[in-house]
Amino acid sequence: MSNLASSPQPDPCAAEIRSAPVIEGHPAREAILGPGLKLRRALPTTGRRLVGPWCFLDHFGPIAYESGKPVDVAPHPHIGLQTVTWLIEGELLHKDSLGYESLIRPGELNLMTAGRGIAHSEETPPQNSGRIHGVQLWVALPDIERHVAPTFNHYDSLPVVQFEGGRATTIIGELAETRSPATAYSPIVGAQLIVDDRASLALPLDSGFEHALVVLEGVIHLEGHKLLPGTLYYLGMGRGTLRLKGEGLVRAMLVGGAPFGEQVLMWWNFVARTPEEIAQAREDWLRRRRFGEVRGYAGARLEAPALQGHPGTRR
Ligand code: MN
Repeated sequence: MSNLASSPQPDPCAAEIRSAPVIEGHPAREAILGPGLKLRRALPTTGRRLVGPWCFLDHFGPIAYESGKPVDVAPHPHIGLQTVTWLIEGELLHKDSLGYESLIRPGELNLMTAGRGIAHSEETPPQNSGRIHGVQLWVALPDIERHVAPTFNHYDSLPVVQFEGGRATTIIGELAETRSPATAYSPIVGAQLIVDDRASLALPLDSGFEHALVVLEGVIHLEGHKLLPGTLYYLGMGRGTLRLKGEGLVRAMLVGGAPFGEQVLMWWNFVARTPEEIAQAREDWLRRRRFGEVRGYAGARLEAPALQGHPGTRR
């Protein structure tokens, strides 16, 4: 999916890392995807641009629809990142310039590694359940890996750890001695947490990671705070155990990783380091170079927005 920012956002990541446990609430922004699907963008926000290598988090739905395609994102390019698509309800169809076509359903993972460049489309398939609820996240690739050849992987099943009071699905990286089969390029965790109604869950964390929580359904009580959907809760580092209490059926995304330690530039669908790279990627998309063509999508591809001003201006 696409981040339609009109100018690149510098990421003063190093200054924001909290080495001790905190609970910082950063309200998500409302954004519109494709023909009109409202979503909540929890990363990047003004106060928080990275959590470990995670640089983008969209939460869409839940919605019910009777006809049409609530998700219809025409072919567009990416560089320098991985996209992580995870559904709670419904289905999405991915097509990319490597020739992969992949239908994703709840409990499965679509992982696209853009590396030096890929293009893809994402849409509601013709045969559908009439509902959609999910998340899409981006992982910034570290400098030494960000020019790798593009790849796409679909994972049918992921490890689930049962705890007293709930369970966790390890989508990417490692959590509670389970490891996702998904390929990761830096120390990372991305997991779906389920906490039973009025239950307590003690989740072991890597205390050397930064973490954040986004509640998708229900309410979480954490250290005297009430965590609700629509906000990214940055947790800092240094917690070996996260003690959550659920209210209602709770579903949440846990994201984290070792502090990324690199400044990234994000513009449109590109994660880069310099304004020149972004301008080059935009030019290559315009001139139909580098990214290849997405076959089988009915419609025109997305045009890149205009570059406004000098894309590398540090603010
Ligand atoms: Mn995309």
